[in-house]
Amino acid sequence: MARFIFITGGVVSSLGKGLASAALGALLQSRGFSVRLRKLDPYLNVDPGTMSPFEHGEVYVTDDGAETDLDLGHYERFTGVAARRTDSVSSGRIYSNVLEKERRGDYLGKTIQVIPHVTNEIKDFIRIGEDEVDFMLCEIGGTVGDIEGLPFFEAIRQFAQDKPRGECIFMHLTLLPYLRASGELKTKPTQHSVKELRAIGIAPDVLVCRSEVEIPEKEREKIALFCNVRKEAVIAAPDLRSIYEAPLAYHREGLDQAVLDAFRISPAPRPDLSRWEDVMDRLEHTDGEVRVAIVGKYTQLEDAYKSIAEALTHGGMANRVRVKAEWIDAEIFEREDPSPWLENFDAILVPGGFGERGTEGKIRAAQWAREHKIPYLGICLGMQMAVIEAARNVAGLRDAGSEEFDHEAGKKRFTPVVYHLKEWIQGSHKVERRPEDDKGGTMRLGAYPAKLKPGSKVAEIYGTTEIEERHRHRYEVDMSYRDKLESVGLIFSGMSPDGKLPEIVEWKDHPWFIGVQFHPELKSRPFEPHPLFRDFIRAAKETSRLV
Ligand code: GLN
Repeated sequence: MARFIFITGGVVSSLGKGLASAALGALLQSRGFSVRLRKLDPYLNVDPGTMSPFEHGEVYVTDDGAETDLDLGHYERFTGVAARRTDSVSSGRIYSNVLEKERRGDYLGKTIQVIPHVTNEIKDFIRIGEDEVDFMLCEIGGTVGDIEGLPFFEAIRQFAQDKPRGECIFMHLTLLPYLRASGELKTKPTQHSVKELRAIGIAPDVLVCRSEVEIPEKEREKIALFCNVRKEAVIAAPDLRSIYEAPLAYHREGLDQAVLDAFRISPAPRPDLSRWEDVMDRLEHTDGEVRVAIVGKYTQLEDAYKSIAEALTHGGMANRVRVKAEWIDAEIFEREDPSPWLENFDAILVPGGFGERGTEGKIRAAQWAREHKIPYLGICLGMQMAVIEAARNVAGLRDAGSEEFDHEAGKKRFTPVVYHLKEWIQGSHKVERRPEDDKGGTMRLGAYPAKLKPGSKVAEIYGTTEIEERHRHRYEVDMSYRDKLESVGLIFSGMSPDGKLPEIVEWKDHPWFIGVQFHPELKSRPFEPHPLFRDFIRAAKETSRLV
């Protein structure tokens, strides 16, 4: 039976609750416990799949095909535990389940209310798989006091009440603002935030306080006294050089000990932190730097490509180089010659994306990488653009394009080298889609196997010919152009097991040019960098040594 840790936040948003949860998960693992992390989000979208990356950051896809919050990416990167559909829920999903049950007649005769119907639905969700792990960590999105968060706070309060004493604890993250003029750390916002939490029946056991300076002993005592937590359970969360320092930093501050004390687990198993010490060693002791240009659309918000940025860092760690990633708006290359921009980089990455805007610029970036023999990694849309580039500029199909852009524009302008996929095989059954289907959750989503061509570059990089990677796309490269493209040197080196869907392309006569229909970045971990990112950065390192 799992013990539950509920993680909430107060004072301001973006305090790094997801990171603190992920780091705590890693620390509990380092003491030999098994963990699972969950995110409960108060917004009304059923899932973040239809939200703009500008607003919500990246959509993180799980093996079982759920489109989830990017915090699940942190959880996976820190614990290595593959997230599932049941590790992420929103108010929208909860309400939609409740309303579906109401229509079905499951509550016949009853008036449906937030308490108990919505809160019960939330509690049932939290309980899923509770027998499987030692600790279940549930992070509540947003901050205490938000109107839409209330049902979640009420549900976790009830949940702890339903369980025997000592099986649930509450950890609350707050901010201690530092007033530079007077040189003081202010504790009042934290006191108010805890007061707010206690007003809805939740008393935190552990307080994690973000502050830019160290918390003096006197202030720690004051927080403990006014917030009714033990002094040792007031944990400082200082600003970090790298997010991967979080497990070691939180351990130094006593977070895992405070949590185990709150559960009265004594004596606590000793932690083995060697994994995180190695990660930090690789980050801090590097030999040189490589520069990677990310040519994309959602360049204003770094979180839009969170997993790619992290996977590049992991690739750097594997090669002991610093990776300097720079985001370039693809639309620039529709007006300007890419050379002056791209000459300064050792490798080019074109990430995934939706819609036509910026795609001509991405095609030019792919062309530039091919012609200048600079390492290129195309992910999802980045692979599709590389294939269109090959079709147009090498195979002579001048009007090659993607059906996605014709659909968007409402008219036919291109030869659809990339077409709308309408049926495919998932496991043992056939999935079918129509163009008019809902936009939410209807893509080819989640983990699919692929077979790699023996002797290809990717087979060498992966060290195997059978892989499984996560997908999130609606369109696909049309295999009727395969012979034409292969005759000019673009190899289809990865295919779905039935041989119908192309998963990977690579240029034969190029030092490193690979396009993948899936998202390798989602499976990269700091302690286990993804093979494609590891080798991409190795190739970039080689380019950097040439010039
Ligand atoms: N828009 C493209 C498709 O739906 C690519 C998606 C992506 O890059 N994730 O196929």
